[in-house]
Amino acid sequence: SHINLFQLCQQLVNNFRVTPAQKHQILFDYQGEQENIYLDENIVRQILTHLLSNAVKYSTDGGLINLNVKGSCDQVILQVCDRGIGIPPEDRSSLFECFHRATNVGTLPGTGLGLAIVKKYVEIHQGEICFESELNVGTIFTITLPIVNC
Ligand code: ATP
Repeated sequence: SHINLFQLCQQLVNNFRVTPAQKHQILFDYQGEQENIYLDENIVRQILTHLLSNAVKYSTDGGLINLNVKGSCDQVILQVCDRGIGIPPEDRSSLFECFHRATNVGTLPGTGLGLAIVKKYVEIHQGEICFESELNVGTIFTITLPIVNC
């Protein structure tokens, strides 16, 4: 159905601002004339919740997190940026595999399932997911979801 993507993202970010991200600053930027978009609300909610949780968890000292969203007639781009621990090069090719956790997670908790789930949701939506990362600098996840019925 049609969802208000701006409102949904704002709501999710606000939930994160209360807790668990007290040390972090989360900036939300929305670009696009169109706010009511034909997308599955549950899928967008699941994807962003996983990515924002990771951004918080893997930037242990706090810091800036960005959620940048671009909505247009034929696609939506969701981008989550953090300034955290980054992903070591040797872990990048298996990052979306179930139970895979990078070698630099230390004692940070997790199952290694979140990103595998995110990837499934993206595939259900016939979208794409990619990331860029630099060790101890940060990570950017970008998801593109096509809009079929506009
Ligand atoms: P859970 O899903 O239970 O939260 P998780 O965080 O370990 O566990 P995923 O979300 O699947 O699982 O992530 C897989 C691995 O990718 C993580 O263990 C971590 O090594 C790495 N990772 C994911 N997101 C980030 C990020 N934003 N910064 C650095 N590493 C990340």
